[in-house]
Formats: sequence, structure tokens, C-alpha cells
Amino acid sequence: MSRKFSELKRCPVCKADLYGGEQTTMGYWRKDFVCDAEFFLWANGRVVVSKPCPSPSYLAALVLEDHKAGAA
Ligand SMILES: [Zn+2]
Repeated sequence: MSRKFSELKRCPVCKADLYGGEQTTMGYWRKDFVCDAEFFLWANGRVVVSKPCPSPSYLAALVLEDHKAGAA
């Protein structure tokens, strides 16, 4: 699950899809996810959660979906 922050396509907590994000002119990346989580990567390499992922239930649902698909 280790990836470059700039290449993240899903919320690292619940796997919700990416819906926005950018590399800002101030030198950091911002990533927004469908679950409403928002993360920043600062130029010094530190990742900051600006909006925590709100949805452990969403993760549980995805795990169940994965299991169902895998077992089908
Ligand atoms: Zn999330």
C-alpha cells in the first residue's frame, strides 16, 4: 500500500475514490477524497491530515465487497 503521495487515487484510510487535488503553488500537494478526507503533503515530506477520514463504516463496506468479489 505504499505509494507516492502524488499518485494516490484512493483514500488511504477507506479507499474512497479521489475526487480532487492539486500541487499548489506553495509547494505542497493536496488530495481530496469522496469520503471527505483531505490530506496534504508538505515540501518537507510531512503528510498532514487536514480533514480526517470520517468513515470506518465505508471501509467495512468495501472490505465486504472485496470479499464477496473474491469469493464469488
Ligand atoms: Zn476515507
